[in-house]
Order: sequence, then structure tokens, then C-alpha cells
Amino acid sequence: MSFSNDGRSNPQEPETRLVTGGRDTKGQRGFVNPAVFHGSTVLYPTAEDLHAHRAEFSYGRHGSPTTRALQDVLMSLEGPQCVGVGLAPSGLAAITTTLLSVLGAGDHVLVTDNVYRPSRNFCNGMLTRYGVDVGYFDPLIGAGIEKLFKPNTKAVLVEAPGSQSFEMSDIPAIAEVAHAKGALVIDDNTWATPLFHRSLDQGVDISMQAATKYIGGHSDIMFGTISANAKTWPLIAEGIRLLGVCAGPDDVFLALRGTRTLAVRLAQHYRSGLEMARWLAARPEVLQVLHPALESHPGHALWKRDFTGASGLFSIVLKPAPQKAVDALLDAVKLFGMGFSWGGFESLIIPFDCDPYRTATKWSPGGPTLRLHIGLENVDDLKADLERGFAALKAAA
Ligand SMILES: *Cc1c(COP(=O)(O)O)cnc(C)c1O
Repeated sequence: MSFSNDGRSNPQEPETRLVTGGRDTKGQRGFVNPAVFHGSTVLYPTAEDLHAHRAEFSYGRHGSPTTRALQDVLMSLEGPQCVGVGLAPSGLAAITTTLLSVLGAGDHVLVTDNVYRPSRNFCNGMLTRYGVDVGYFDPLIGAGIEKLFKPNTKAVLVEAPGSQSFEMSDIPAIAEVAHAKGALVIDDNTWATPLFHRSLDQGVDISMQAATKYIGGHSDIMFGTISANAKTWPLIAEGIRLLGVCAGPDDVFLALRGTRTLAVRLAQHYRSGLEMARWLAARPEVLQVLHPALESHPGHALWKRDFTGASGLFSIVLKPAPQKAVDALLDAVKLFGMGFSWGGFESLIIPFDCDPYRTATKWSPGGPTLRLHIGLENVDDLKADLERGFAALKAAA
């Protein structure tokens, strides 16, 4: 838990806040970085202090100087609406903790149909078992979401853009309806991070991210964060406490280290990602590029209005080709690794198909779909790699 928000009193720009936030040089005996506190027990000097729970830190699960440093920098990045940041051992744990903290038996929750699939599995598996009614909505519904509200609708879970299909939701429009109906808005803000999308300034009450991705930035930690406004932080703080959610100190430290370079890394992912997206859009093998920063994307106007940048993750739709040809492409590329996750320094490629699990909308893009993460390699090398892939696709078709 944190009690100061630099974003409130600090007029500096986000890049500066990422570098300076959470620093306590005096407490760190002059070192610019905090120590990694491996700790469970905190000792109280007197019986009176113990009875009164009088201590800056009370127990390892409830935080340490290392977690406080990370929470402070994330709070200052989220902006003045943010009053607390919870830390979780994975992005999915941040989502499940959030949902368990705000929902109860008999409540109804509306979930975007392009939600991260494990979030959907949690809603359909555990939430339903605990008596929560889960409904899905078209990510493009906007203010039309009003007709899906029930008297017991407690929360709406949005994700923009969806991390496979890249549909852009009108989050401010959805938030306006939700708030008029007395419901909370939860955003999975992993794609843009608070650097490029200040969710909490746009009507979102709780913004979470898989810090496994860009905050960590080096594909070496699992981590999740939950940023909450004044209305929702008490619920999140209570949920974290009751569930016993906490993160390991080494991962907290690595997440903090990631924040220091987030702005330069994301700027490069944005630049390289857009260049690769434009290059791919001109390729004869490609039917469509799903990248909201491209003028041709149906959600471009929303992206331009609500976001200040794009990350390195987007998808492409290939012209119809047999599975074996797509597999030949995947096997031919060398710089693009095949694997889940994203947000690290390296480029990745995976095939995907949203259709089998969507329930509110149909997904039929017109050809095989691939998701690409553009890493920090040189873009000419990445183009040459994909050219090799396209040659293999052609040869196997
Ligand atoms: C990866 C991801 C998550 C889950 O994060 P983990 O740290 O892998 O649990 C949640 N949402 C989105 C959009 C993601 O891409």
C-alpha cells in the first residue's frame, strides 16, 4: 500500500517520473536502488508497539521498502486518480484477485468478448461456481452496452485493444454507462501500459496489467499489478489482504528495474512495431494488418483519441493458405521465436484463432491469423526474417 502519489503534486512528465518515482535515497543509505528485502518477520521494539501494531511495516506479506518503491513509481505513472497499487505474482492473479475483490454471489459481471482467454476461463470456471452471473459483450458495442445491464450488474471488464484480435473498445463510453448504472469498470491495460493509456483518467476504476510483459520487459519474471482509484482501492486492499496475495521480493525488484527503462523500450517497440506493420500491410501475402495505430484500422480514431502510443504487439491476417504452408512460415523464421507471452526484448510469432471460444461475436477474419511481437532487434533484420518465412509459405502452398 502506498500513501503518496507523485502524480498528484508532481508536474513532471511520465518519463521523468519513471526514473525518479519511489526513490528514497536516504532510506537506502545513498544507493539509488532499494535493497531487496527478503523478509517475513518484522520485529517490534516494545510490547506497546506490538499491541498497537505500531510499525512502518508489519509483516512480509503486507509489504516492504522494495514493494513500496515499486508501488510509488507505478502510482505516479497512473496519475492523480490512482490511490493505491496492489502487487500480484502474475498478471492473471491480478485479474482474478480484482474480480474476487469486487464481486460476490448473486452479482452479474459483463466481460468483453475479446478478453484474455485465461481471464475468460476464470470467469466461466470459478466465478460461475461461486454464484456470479457472467455475460459477454461485443468489444465494439460502445454505449450500446446499456441494454445488457441487469439490476445486479456490478462490474464491466474491458480490454483494449484485445491482445489477439486488436478490436478497440470505446472505454469512456462504456464507463459512462457503467457509472450511471452504479457498476465499476475494470481494464486489462497490459497492451499499452499506463505510459500510453491512462485508464484511470478515462473512467476506469481499476486498471490492471500483466507486468510480466512490458513492465518486466525482459521475459524473466511473472508479475501483475492492480491500480485502483479512491472508490475501489479499499475493496482491492481488502481482497489482497484476505486472499494473501503477494509477490516475491526478487520479482518486485526486477519489476521496479523494468520501470526505469520502460519509456525508452516502449518508444522503440512503438516505432519498430509500426514500421513492421506498414511493411506487412504492403506485402502480397497479407490480407490485413490488425494494428490500431494504422489509419486503416477500424479502431484507429479511438486509439488516437485515448492512447498516446502503441506497443510492439499486433496481428496479421494472411490470404487463405493451407495450415502446412503457415507452419512452413513459422518454421522458416529464426528471429521471430514461437512462444506465448510478449513484452520482452525479443520478437515473437504465434498462430491464433479466436473463433472457437468467442460467444458474443463471430470471428472470421478471412484467412489464417498470426500474432507478432516486435522486439528490439533491427527492423531490417526482422523484415529479412519474415521474407524467408514468406518464401517458405509460398513454396509449401
Ligand atoms: C499475459 C497476459 C495476462 C496474464 O499475465 P500473466 O503474467 O501471464 O499471468 C493478462 N492479460 C493480458 C492481456 C496478457 O497478455
